[in-house]
Amino acid sequence: MLHAVVKCSKRLYSRLPEKTSTLAKFNFPSATNTIEEVSNKIDSYLNNRSAKITLHGHIHRKSRLRAALSFGFIRDKQGDVLQFVSDVGSGDQSVLETMKKLSVEDSVAITGHAKRKETVGKEKEDAWELVAEEIQILNASNLDASRLEKLKQASPEDIPPQFRYLQLRTPFYQNALRTRSKLAQLVRKVLVENHDFVEIETPLLFKSTPEGAREFLVPTRAFDSFYALPQSPQQYKQILMSSGFTRYFQMAKCFRDEDLRADRQPEFTQIDLEMSFINSADQVMKVVEDVVLNLWKHTSKSGTYHVNSKGNLQPIHNLGENNNDSLQFQKLRYEEALQKYGIDKPDLRSNISFTSLSDFFVAKENPSFPVVEACVLKNAFEPEPEGSKKKKYKIPKSLIDPINYNRRRPYVWAVGKEQGEKNGNSNWWYQTLLEKNIITAKENINESELNQLLNLEPGDIIAVSTRAELPYENPTPLGKFRQLAIKEFPRKWLRPIENHEQQLVTDYDPESVTVGSWVVDFPLFNPVETSSHLDSPYPNYDFDKFESTHHPFTMCRSKDYDLLETDPLAVKGEHYDLVMNGVEVGGGSRRIHDPALQKFVFEEILRIQNHQQLFGHLVKALSMGCPPHAGLALGFDRLCAMIVGSSSIRDVIAFPKNQSGKDLVVDSPTSVDEQTLNDYHVTKF
Ligand code: ASP
Repeated sequence: MLHAVVKCSKRLYSRLPEKTSTLAKFNFPSATNTIEEVSNKIDSYLNNRSAKITLHGHIHRKSRLRAALSFGFIRDKQGDVLQFVSDVGSGDQSVLETMKKLSVEDSVAITGHAKRKETVGKEKEDAWELVAEEIQILNASNLDASRLEKLKQASPEDIPPQFRYLQLRTPFYQNALRTRSKLAQLVRKVLVENHDFVEIETPLLFKSTPEGAREFLVPTRAFDSFYALPQSPQQYKQILMSSGFTRYFQMAKCFRDEDLRADRQPEFTQIDLEMSFINSADQVMKVVEDVVLNLWKHTSKSGTYHVNSKGNLQPIHNLGENNNDSLQFQKLRYEEALQKYGIDKPDLRSNISFTSLSDFFVAKENPSFPVVEACVLKNAFEPEPEGSKKKKYKIPKSLIDPINYNRRRPYVWAVGKEQGEKNGNSNWWYQTLLEKNIITAKENINESELNQLLNLEPGDIIAVSTRAELPYENPTPLGKFRQLAIKEFPRKWLRPIENHEQQLVTDYDPESVTVGSWVVDFPLFNPVETSSHLDSPYPNYDFDKFESTHHPFTMCRSKDYDLLETDPLAVKGEHYDLVMNGVEVGGGSRRIHDPALQKFVFEEILRIQNHQQLFGHLVKALSMGCPPHAGLALGFDRLCAMIVGSSSIRDVIAFPKNQSGKDLVVDSPTSVDEQTLNDYHVTKF
């Protein structure tokens, strides 16, 4: 406890706020109910003046009809809004006087009785109003809040972010954060009760070690001595596996100093878990499926589906049957994902697929990217009416805007009526690519075969691009195109749902469907990229230098063991990602628990000179009988956002940073004075 010694001068004392009105704010009746509770039993309250109700909340809206009759709206902690009125007949002017003083967003305690409303609306709360006998203003809001009221009615996000607390008072955010809290409880329940996990906190003051992203350094007052905030508790959780805990989890705060333009936050939360004595990755996947499916079952309006062997979506029914031997979600190999969907996190609700044009063309522009492929969006546009003058369909801007592509973008055409009629001659689209020297045609192209393959018709969109044989490029240009097309046309080209009667349903609301899949067989290492997306349309790699695709602690597939010595880039890792509706919600792996093998990876493959200094602690812990182990981390913020139906993780974080990494509520980060900097041996330049 802090004991500050304050010498009170008279001058200070004279600034003390007025006693009675200030203390009155601390002295008020407890709430008897929420609005919902009264609404649910309204018959027993109506017209019973002695059934006193005290509500706590904020003034949601305020109106005054005539001097003698006022009414307003109170919003309680559940976001329910109720009308309250002055008691006209009572002759007591004090309530009316207080009502005049009310402003929007004041916090209040209102005591009164329920009365049937004359005009009854649809909602339960609309059946009654509160006749106020006493209103106590517990704290007045300032003018800003009332001005903000107008904005609030448009959309809570329009409230300036420095007033995050006012945003959070709105029903959307109240629901988002309450759902988040419920989800955290469910995670704990499933992991602890169903699977015997132990929740253990690991330090936030960690050590600087390369794990992939840039880290936040924390200077200390000792000279040349820094902590780093953890990018994840990866190393501590592995050390815990060497500490006799066989099942660990934590709602872990993680910190990464990364580009924030995408929907990322410098600090975020993972459901982090690790299990020891694990001989198959499926054991971890099954636990994770149980967590995720329970979260969806108890909190989401969307149903969970997997892709069956026929390529259709099928609802997952046997929730809770954890002893079920097989996994619930389909496994998709990394290379298959890139070939079919051009990305390692495909949205499987969509049926959009690619057609290889390799029998007809070879890419010319860059020999390392020889594969030519196309993506046809059938009937993207309604057919042009007969006799219409309109010549061309307009390709949605998002599909061709360079800003939406990391590097090069595909060549995209809308198939108009004229081109459709020319269907006997497919030249019209690939001619441009030949002229621009992007591709060359193989000898004796069979035009009718090409036409048959693509079957282009008026109203279609065709996108053509190139890729490498084994793409490290992820997403490929067509993969990105596919994502953009799904966003632009959310209800088109949906993968059929196979219902109980084995009928196929294709007309459904994609928001009501969550499709999960595991992506496996990632390359364990990538060649180091030597180009930046700003200076080159094609990525360049140094094929003699390797980096871990995920982190250096991932085990290889047993059958690839020998390749570690001869061809590391051909080695696949025992890594698995969980992808839901095109969002990577988590990833994990079986780990290397053999200290000699871990050292080999650091030294010989990744060539980390000072690995002893950076990772010696981990290797030491592995070498003291650490059992085989595997684990995974789920992005908790991302899961919450999906469940509340939001596209941004900011919506489910109470105080998120903005895109420049600033928290505008407290105005952080800030500069610190010279003296403090000296204490930390930090010099300003
Ligand atoms: N630590 C990893 C991450 O943060 C997850 C894991 O491998 O368990 O992505």
